[in-house]
Amino acid sequence: VPKISALGSPDYNPDAKFYKVEAILRPWRIPQVSSALLKMGIRGVTVSDVRGFGAQGGLTERQAGSEFSEDNLVAKVKMEIVVSKDQVEAVVDKIIAEARTGEIGDGKIFLVPVSDVIRVRTGERAEKAERMVGGRSDMSSSVSPA
Ligand code: ATP
Ligand code: GLN
Repeated sequence: VPKISALGSPDYNPDAKFYKVEAILRPWRIPQVSSALLKMGIRGVTVSDVRGFGAQGGLTERQAGSEFSEDNLVAKVKMEIVVSKDQVEAVVDKIIAEARTGEIGDGKIFLVPVSDVIRVRTGERAEKAERMVGGRSDMSSSVSPA
């Protein structure tokens, strides 16, 4: 009898040293989120203007009784932040604290494992490339001066 390899517990979520925190948020909350991240030592962030629909779009659909059109797409901002695994929860908590209103449309956060980080200028990889001067790991390892 051949083994059926699709059964069992395949690792769909491989452990990684780095994760991309990908947050889809309300545009008007971005300045607040960015400055809070900066204060906690997050120095590398990429932001894009995007449009999408979630529960908010579904609500519009039910009310209007029509299919999605471009008009149902709501302007959002996507923030992408690659951090070491041990920094993920702190970043996620901070984003929630600064971006949440409690209303439908606050957004969603995806955690994406990242295989490697390469700094273009130096060719550095992994921890050396992910680490930022004056960043979160510098902050936590530095002994406060007398
Ligand atoms: P260098 O010391 O060569 O400047 P760096 O690590 O500071 O390297 P930049 O080249 O300044 O990186 O970064 C270019 C762009 O890459 C940034 O503007 C930002 O959009 C993005 N970026 C850098 N690091 C991260 C990160 N950890 N997560 C998400 N985006 C990042
Ligand atoms: N983990 C990096 C550090 O501690 C910061 C990563 C980032 O700013 N996205 O230096």
